[in-house]
Amino acid sequence: MGYIRFLGHSAFEVEVDGKRIYIDPWLGNPDSPLKVSDVDRADIIVVTHFHGDHAGDAEEIAKKTGAKIVAVYEIASYYEKKGLKAVGMNIGGPADVDGVKILFTPAAHSSEIGVPTGVIILGREAVIYHAGDTGLFSGMELYGRLYKIDYALVPIGGHFTMDPEQAALFVSTFKPRVAVPMHYGTFPVLYGSPDKFREYVRKYSPGTHVVVLRPGEKLEF
Ligand SMILES: [Zn+2]
Repeated sequence: MGYIRFLGHSAFEVEVDGKRIYIDPWLGNPDSPLKVSDVDRADIIVVTHFHGDHAGDAEEIAKKTGAKIVAVYEIASYYEKKGLKAVGMNIGGPADVDGVKILFTPAAHSSEIGVPTGVIILGREAVIYHAGDTGLFSGMELYGRLYKIDYALVPIGGHFTMDPEQAALFVSTFKPRVAVPMHYGTFPVLYGSPDKFREYVRKYSPGTHVVVLRPGEKLEF
């Protein structure tokens, strides 16, 4: 039994195959139900790209829990130089991180260090794709052919990433079973709404079920 718990903005706590994984843990976001001091256990921390609202509290959580930070090589090196455990990889095939297969995908965005990515966690219990911050691009259809993506976490806020219509069209290219919107509403500039996303997914990817998680809410599998 695992779960995906939304921590506001693009931050998620995932439990899969017995591992606790934090993705883009910026727990300083205004909607986060957790503070770093509440995190009692973490095995893996994934950082999709080096922007403050994504790398966020990765360093603090790693210091506190001894979790490994998994990111593209240059970002991983940055954390390693600070004396933290890190696994550097790149966009490509899966790496085995303590028994969990993890791979990075492209993302159309920017990053202060390394390159921006999305991440696919190939769990035995569930396959989870966190798209990071990205604009609309084609290419995920290839990953969709290789991996049956159960849960896709996609940015819909617009301005810095896809808006709801772009995100819905994006999702249609790899057809996950469930799509969860993220990266909206944190600031007024992130205007995309989950209702619009749901509407557009119905149009572009009718086989995909949209689940909107409130901060703190869990989707269990
Ligand atoms: Zn970003």
